[in-house]
Amino acid sequence: MKKCPKCKYPNPDDRIFCFQCNADLRPPAPPPPAAPPPPPAPPPVVTQAAPSKAPQSTAAKAVTAVTAVVLLLIILVVLTAFPAMMRDVNADRNLNYLPPTKDTTSLVTYEVTGTASSASMTYETPGGTSQQSDMSLPWSHTFSAEEGQFLYISAQNQDRAGTVTAAIKVDGVIAKSSTSSGAYVIASTSGRL
Ligand SMILES: [Zn+2]
Repeated sequence: MKKCPKCKYPNPDDRIFCFQCNADLRPPAPPPPAAPPPPPAPPPVVTQAAPSKAPQSTAAKAVTAVTAVVLLLIILVVLTAFPAMMRDVNADRNLNYLPPTKDTTSLVTYEVTGTASSASMTYETPGGTSQQSDMSLPWSHTFSAEEGQFLYISAQNQDRAGTVTAAIKVDGVIAKSSTSSGAYVIASTSGRL
């Protein structure tokens, strides 16, 4: 009686494959013989510490020395030039974040205030002339402009009474302002940055 190693089915001794699961009933093949150990590594060849027994000619020695010096110089140049190059790259990159040496840009604010409840504005920006109808007060519009920019703001009272004041602020400081009082009056002021 041979018990199947896989499903434990009792098979007759002469069976080669399991009656139930067809597993191979033959005894397992002996493991293949172990591979022979690798041959011992040859002793390392020491070229630097033990120079060949044949004495080098003086010419060959000179060539070797020159080669060594040249290699050393190349390594030195790379080691010194590479960090310098990286510094230059970083310096250029940092320059992009520095403000321009002469700042010709100002922050301009047109401000319309007053006791009137609403006004209609006409104003000049670097993008051209703009109009805003029936804006409730106070109203303001801020933009940046280059030196020489023409500045103009006019505000018409859209109320039957009250005052409107149109002002130009440059970098937060009132540079010009004009006030008008009464129904539908216009307050306007202008200048050049
Ligand atoms: Zn079986």
